[in-house]
Amino acid sequence: MNQARRPWHSVLKLRHLIIALTTSSAIITMVATVLASYKVQRQQLIAQSLDDNLAYAAKLANTVDGFFKGALQQLAYSAQIAASDFGQAEVLRSEVRRLHLQTDSFNSVLIVDNDGLIRATSPASSPMQGVALRDQNLLRVIEAGRPYISPPYLPASGNLLVFVSHPVVAADGRQLGAIAGTIYLKQKSVLHQLLGTHYHRDGSYLYVVDAQRRLLYHPDPDRVGTLASANTAVDRLAHAASGSEVLINSRGLEMVAGFASAPTPGWGIVAQRPLAATLKPLGSLMAQVLGLTLPLSLAALVLVWMFALRIAQPLNALAASAAGYRPGGTDRALRAVSSWYFEAAQLKRAMLLGLGVFNGNLERLEKDAATDPLTGLGNRRRFDLSLTLLAEQRAPFSVVVLDIDHFKRINDTHGHDVGDAYLRHLAGLIGDSVGMGDVACRIGGEEFALLLPDTDLAEATARAEALRRRVAEAQPPHEQPMTVSAGVAEWQAGPDEDVQATLKTADQRLYCAKTLGRNQVQAA
Ligand code: GH3
Ligand code: MG
Ligand code: MG
Repeated sequence: MNQARRPWHSVLKLRHLIIALTTSSAIITMVATVLASYKVQRQQLIAQSLDDNLAYAAKLANTVDGFFKGALQQLAYSAQIAASDFGQAEVLRSEVRRLHLQTDSFNSVLIVDNDGLIRATSPASSPMQGVALRDQNLLRVIEAGRPYISPPYLPASGNLLVFVSHPVVAADGRQLGAIAGTIYLKQKSVLHQLLGTHYHRDGSYLYVVDAQRRLLYHPDPDRVGTLASANTAVDRLAHAASGSEVLINSRGLEMVAGFASAPTPGWGIVAQRPLAATLKPLGSLMAQVLGLTLPLSLAALVLVWMFALRIAQPLNALAASAAGYRPGGTDRALRAVSSWYFEAAQLKRAMLLGLGVFNGNLERLEKDAATDPLTGLGNRRRFDLSLTLLAEQRAPFSVVVLDIDHFKRINDTHGHDVGDAYLRHLAGLIGDSVGMGDVACRIGGEEFALLLPDTDLAEATARAEALRRRVAEAQPPHEQPMTVSAGVAEWQAGPDEDVQATLKTADQRLYCAKTLGRNQVQAA
């Protein structure tokens, strides 16, 4: 609860910021790397698959084209033989049988005359034998008058087929009829031998369309003979010999397609593979990328962390030492900070400098607070403090209280400034007379006091007397001579010893010295 109310700057540390920064940049870099390589791999897989399908379609188109060229040549040859003996039924029968059985190109072969009457068929059992044709499709075989490959045709036998035909032309150029081979579209035929091997078992397939978009070959037999639905590859086949693209098939699946046309029959072959199958290796490829990237990224992250924390460390330590600083405290913690680069070193230097100035000021302030500005001796505050300290140490000491005789007169005669000069003069003499450990203070207007540790009454009296004599003998700052009176008292540790009482005794003895004529020391 309390934590929530703390301001951000007291909770957020440089270390946390650096860790957040490095971690997020590492994550961003990694995600970007993985995304980029995902995109590249995906494009490469698709490009590869486009190439594969195009090559496959082109190869099959080439095979189909070659087949039809050969088939038309065979038909041309047979047409020649049939033309020379067109009246001889036996010749026609043997030629269609030879063509049918020898070449394996056609499901059946037939010869038809200009009237549409079938003159010979193979196999001989064909129900079409001797049948006059009225079918538009078959009539077109004759009417074509040239090598011809028909659209899909469903004759009474029920086998969807195409005719491949060649006119039978007499030596004088007169057309006698035509010889035609059938290729079944739904039943086993040469077409299935040419196309029927699937090169992938992952949903890849191929289909064949004629120039009118009719499907001649398709893995789904029900669609053979129907029009290919809207399909960009089929559209493009009308304009281009070959190509490849990613398209959406009739079932709404994204497919990678390659297409090529066989010019002889005017057919187009489309080989396509599901995009999903194409991209299947992407998972393991990405796993490999991650497997390579992740340890490297983590290692880099740890390195960056370590280095960043090393950079933050001096600032951390400087901040901790700043937070732990108390007035009058030492600069030891600050000095221990290893500031190993320029900025931290400068900060440390400035902090040490600031701390030194601060501590110096503090010392001076404390000194000022206990110093009398006029004489430079201690003031009343210093005196009281020292008195208390000495009493606390329970070591014996003596107090001398001094007062200038008839000081009022000096002030009155020569002015306050001269009076001050006398005060400074006396302070100088007092300062000269004290040793180490002694405390000399101006405790009132022209009243001074000495604290003499480890000094008994007799010795203190002697020192007070020496001082009194020096004052009386010294050259005063102005023509008027100056004398002082003093009272001395001793303090010794004991159950009833009270420093204030000792001070009072000294005061009383000073008063005594005054009343007894001044310029003297009283210790009793
Ligand atoms: P006595 O011998 O009895 O001590 O006579 P006295 O004139 O010294 O009397 P008293 O100690 O009462 O006088 C104190 C005088 O000291 C009063 C005041 O004018 C003077 N005085 C106190 N403080 C200062 C000071 O800071 N500067 C100057 N010039 N005079 C001061
Ligand atoms: Mg006085
Ligand atoms: Mg006086």
